[in-house]
Amino acid sequence: MRRTQHHSPRHIWRDTLLLPWLLASALLAGCATSTVRNPVTGENERTVMDEPREIAEGKKAHQSVLQEYGVYPNQRLQAYVNDIGQRLAKQSERSNLAWTFTVLDSPEINAFALPGGFIYVTRGIMAYMESEADLAGVIGHEIGHVTARHGAQRATRQQTAGVGIVAATILGAVLEGAGVGGAGQLANQMSQSVAAGYIASYGREQELQADRLGAEYLARTQYDPRNMVDVIQVLKNQERFAADAARAEGRTVSTGANWLSSHPSNDQRLQEIQQIASKYQGKYGDDGRARYLQAINGMTFGESREQGVTRGRNFYHEPMGFALTAPAGWKVQNEADAITLVNAEGNAGLVVKAVPAKAGGTHEEIIRNVLKPESGRILRTTLNGFSATRFEGVRKNQQGQAQPLEVTVVTGPSSQNYLMGFVSKDADALQRARRQLQEAEASFRALTAADRAAAKPWAIRTVAYQRGGFAQLARQSPLPSLPEQQLKLINGVYGGGEPAAGQLVKVVE
Ligand SMILES: [Zn+2]
Repeated sequence: MRRTQHHSPRHIWRDTLLLPWLLASALLAGCATSTVRNPVTGENERTVMDEPREIAEGKKAHQSVLQEYGVYPNQRLQAYVNDIGQRLAKQSERSNLAWTFTVLDSPEINAFALPGGFIYVTRGIMAYMESEADLAGVIGHEIGHVTARHGAQRATRQQTAGVGIVAATILGAVLEGAGVGGAGQLANQMSQSVAAGYIASYGREQELQADRLGAEYLARTQYDPRNMVDVIQVLKNQERFAADAARAEGRTVSTGANWLSSHPSNDQRLQEIQQIASKYQGKYGDDGRARYLQAINGMTFGESREQGVTRGRNFYHEPMGFALTAPAGWKVQNEADAITLVNAEGNAGLVVKAVPAKAGGTHEEIIRNVLKPESGRILRTTLNGFSATRFEGVRKNQQGQAQPLEVTVVTGPSSQNYLMGFVSKDADALQRARRQLQEAEASFRALTAADRAAAKPWAIRTVAYQRGGFAQLARQSPLPSLPEQQLKLINGVYGGGEPAAGQLVKVVE
């Protein structure tokens, strides 16, 4: 959960995060089409987005991306990434654009572009890159989407199909990020089905063209284009790790029947990019591995202080000053706008949301304005010393059916109000989980000294590789599941191979 939220309630899954807001506010009335020359192919194309329009829409969307994800608060790292991006963009077909490169404060493995020259990489994807040249490969690919006007082309198609320009643009951008995603993404079935309609417009040819352009920009900036191969290998290893992790936890491994099937597979991309890279015979400078590892030394890994950190069944939000503990066997899901404690069956949970000040000053106002109940009863109570109000009642859902409500409003640390609601698949599931839902709710507390000590986020550090190997490093790692495999994954040797003794490797502390 991020401390500052600017948007009203939205879907809990991250990849669809911009959908309700955009569809509500950004549908643009019929736009005139014009003809522009594609800077990459030189061909003319009909479009609803000429260059000034690309820049204007990109700028608007840029602000919402920054608000939703947050900018990673490290100016030295931002400047480093921006410098790499500017050097690549200068060698592109659209060096005239005012390019911006932003590291987002997100653990997701993600990179995306908006029309007009706005490029994003998450600190999550940076943790998995091995060198400056790898990162340049990711950025080069995203620059390729902009120079070849893929966002504008998609917007034009979507406009014809009746979806707003900005909606199409951002959805495409964010969902491409999902395409880059791995471990977390495969668990995220819901967003995939929501995404399916849009991702279909994300052409296989556009992806391969972005790969080709990325390779070209690498070559022009003295990075070996074969680093594009490394990047795709990293993505492939993410897929393997996600599958292996699912198997280890006894979950079913999803294959085929999701939107990945409409995307060029990483296997396919790997083959094609190997062919492309083999055509380059230039002399290239060093891959900037030492500089890169120095730049990311100390970078946050996983959840950040601003997002709040999950440790086992506990959730700690240091800036907001509260903690929660899930009942035994339950899981904590930390999303941008809510924390959910979910039971083992996945059919009941406690959703905790921060209530914006504009929703009301008293608990009664909040219940009225946010929940809009038909009827119900109110009970004044306290929760670990905080004043709280319990509400049980009914409201009408969108289909006009009566829907039971069980929520508690609590005024937590710094007078911030929170809404805690019981959610379930059906009445039976609610009844079975009730005792534990109550236990989850009762765990809401001000951070204790012990909580504060446990709330420290993880960071990437570099150390010299030693004889004990990753097995030894894993024993000192705070990573809770499959630490040895995860360390191999972030060091690019999940598929095999081993660093030389004394070589710098990444660890998580
Ligand atoms: Zn792409």
